[in-house]
Amino acid sequence: MSDDLILPEEPGTPPAGDAGPGPETAGVYGVPRPAVPKRLPVTPRFGGCASGAGVGAAAPGEPGFRRLPPWLKARLPGTGEYAETKALIRRQGLHTVCEEARCPNLGHCWERGTATIMILGELCTRRCGFCAVAPGQPNGFVDHDEPRRVGEAVAAMGLRHTVITSVARDDLKDGGSGIFAAVIGEIRKRSSTVIEVLIPDFRGHPDDLKHVIDAGPEVINHNVETVARLHPVVRPSARYDRSLEVLSRVKAWGGGAVRAKSGIMLGLGERDDEIDQTLADLVAHGCELLTIGQYLRPSPHHLPVVEYVHPDRFRDWGRRAEALGMGSVASGPLVRSSFHADELAGTVRRGETSRAG
Ligand code: SF4
Repeated sequence: MSDDLILPEEPGTPPAGDAGPGPETAGVYGVPRPAVPKRLPVTPRFGGCASGAGVGAAAPGEPGFRRLPPWLKARLPGTGEYAETKALIRRQGLHTVCEEARCPNLGHCWERGTATIMILGELCTRRCGFCAVAPGQPNGFVDHDEPRRVGEAVAAMGLRHTVITSVARDDLKDGGSGIFAAVIGEIRKRSSTVIEVLIPDFRGHPDDLKHVIDAGPEVINHNVETVARLHPVVRPSARYDRSLEVLSRVKAWGGGAVRAKSGIMLGLGERDDEIDQTLADLVAHGCELLTIGQYLRPSPHHLPVVEYVHPDRFRDWGRRAEALGMGSVASGPLVRSSFHADELAGTVRRGETSRAG
């Protein structure tokens, strides 16, 4: 493998629609259920998640191969803090978006001792066109010990800023919000870290979102991912308006103690006027923190990259977002949802509510 982060390929079929919940979904915590997660026989594993886009492209000679421009090249180190973080994650039986998404910033973040932990399993009940998290039917399976292990791992890593995310769990009655809340509680018991959760839309159910807000994270991130027009292709199971509503509710129900964050990808074919509208919509719906990054195709079975956006244009969009009223923006080709999340959240510490400068 070169340092272009060109990933190997596996056979598969294009993503389409929603994997949907299994027929025998239970989704009631504490009740025995036929917990047999089922991975659907489609798409490769590399990349993506609610954290925003997969990484890489087809291998040379394969359909869809397109060499990355120089500004998207990054190396994956394997020593120092990186190795320690990896060992700890393995010991606790946890998953990280950093690895699942083959994130180009993995080495950088892990060397800093930060990692984004993915809860609620590895199978997603949705199939977003940009994301290579494995689709499947978890069939109501929930690992009730996971919150404790996450809490212990965060404490052991001594994280200053912790990001927790998940796959979409439309098979669960509460969308997984109960486990999110339990994870936040277990971390709080053991650590004074700032907690950021990157959540799905919980199908717009207000009670599920409220459950997470009430657990008291400092930042709630929900990515709108792309402009309204491209949603049916990029996020077929999600809705632009619903995602904006999630952000509004975070702002309204968080009582000033929780900051709303979102993220978008560029390079999927969006027009400038649509990006501008999306930025304005996010600000109007209470979003204070924003990441803007380049979409990278996880495999030939995913949506093609329409454009590799030049770093100068990322800078321009970052300035534009701030001019529209966004509190803090990270914008660049390699920026992902959790990229320097601690710096983006700025002065936020437990109990503080001030805006980032
Ligand atoms: S909801 Fe979409 S982006 Fe999130 S993990 Fe599932 S497929 Fe990926």
